[in-house]
Amino acid sequence: MTDTTGTTDDHVDYLIVGAAFAGSLLAAEFARLGKTIFTDKFLPGTLMNCGGGLPVKVFEKLDVEIPFRNVSEGIMCINGMEHRFPCNYVVVDRSQLDAALCDKACAAGAVFKKLNYTGHDPAISTAFFIDGRKKKISMTYKKLILAYGLYPHKDPFSGKRRKPWPHGLAQVEILSGESTRPNSFHFDISPGLDPGYAWMFPMPDGRINIGAGSFRNSGLRKTMLSELKNRFDLKGAPLEKGGGVIPLTVTSRLQKGNVIIYGDAAGMVNPLNGEGLMHIAKFADRLVRAVSSGKNINIAWLTSNTFLYLLTASLVLKIINIGSSATRISLYPASCRLVASIRRQLPK
Ligand SMILES: Cc1cc2nc3c(=O)[nH]c(=O)nc-3n(C[C@H](O)[C@H](O)[C@H](O)COP(=O)(O)OP(=O)(O)OC[C@H]3O[C@@H](n4cnc5c(N)ncnc54)[C@H](O)[C@@H]3O)c2cc1C
Repeated sequence: MTDTTGTTDDHVDYLIVGAAFAGSLLAAEFARLGKTIFTDKFLPGTLMNCGGGLPVKVFEKLDVEIPFRNVSEGIMCINGMEHRFPCNYVVVDRSQLDAALCDKACAAGAVFKKLNYTGHDPAISTAFFIDGRKKKISMTYKKLILAYGLYPHKDPFSGKRRKPWPHGLAQVEILSGESTRPNSFHFDISPGLDPGYAWMFPMPDGRINIGAGSFRNSGLRKTMLSELKNRFDLKGAPLEKGGGVIPLTVTSRLQKGNVIIYGDAAGMVNPLNGEGLMHIAKFADRLVRAVSSGKNINIAWLTSNTFLYLLTASLVLKIINIGSSATRISLYPASCRLVASIRRQLPK
């Protein structure tokens, strides 16, 4: 695609599309290496698409000053039985987290622009955008980083339609009030053949984050969230509602030419529980080091623990799905029970 109409900004070393978790995280790092612009169609912190749970160690490394809630226990409720295991996590308000990371990137020298990305032409290293007044803008780049979340039907490198990338769906609501499980992640695991989960997380500032996730793209089983609400007597109207897609497979290729994909765009989510922030944060340093030293990013990625972990998780999910259809026994709850008992044996 070639579209050279509209204004052209100066040449940018690192041009990042998406200023949510992945984009802002990378913008702060790339700003130290060269001229960095990061863009988003919304102001960072506008979207609510997360439970906001992440390990304490990962949160501390992000070095942002936002309210958080400590969580020391996970509970998986399967067929009415509770399986508990220790964990060392925090829950944050994801909107506050994205806004704080965006501020941090700007403080490091990156420039944020509110622009809607429409595509890029690798032959001329140019990306195309539309601003709030529908004006076309193009920018040339040394490296283009697409951290715009998962577009299941679009190949990020070519922009062309593709066979849908495997994905599930999740929805989230924020309610006012104190969780009856103030130090725990609570998960209801669907016992049926159509696996899914609902969660209740305590949030800072007297709020509760609830949601439900599925492993299919045709829609969520609505009863999961309403059953959770009924059981915990959560009657208040939601303060916020959101949701999004959950990638169920990780990509094996992060870079093609000067274009890099990152975050959900590259499927960096554990498909078994929808956890993405930890994995996105973990590989960020290595990605930036590989880019700055001219190393092959795809090899760094394929040999990383993050990739191997996510690949294993997606294979486990496939085995669970195939095994469940073959035996007509839901293997997801059994796997959750196994995970809970393994986590009980592990050091905290
Ligand atoms: C309901 C739900 C609950 C979750 N809970 C958790 C959890 O508790 N813990 C956890 O670790 N993970 C959780 N996840 C996963 C986690 O939210 C994702 O892994 C994470 O949001 C990915 O960050 P990202 O920056 O890659 O993408 P996104 O958060 O999707 O951000 C993409 C950004 O790109 C922007 N963008 C998109 N298109 C364009 C365009 N054309 N032009 C400009 N900008 C564009 C968007 O506006 C957005 O700001 C959850 C996911 C869902 C859906």
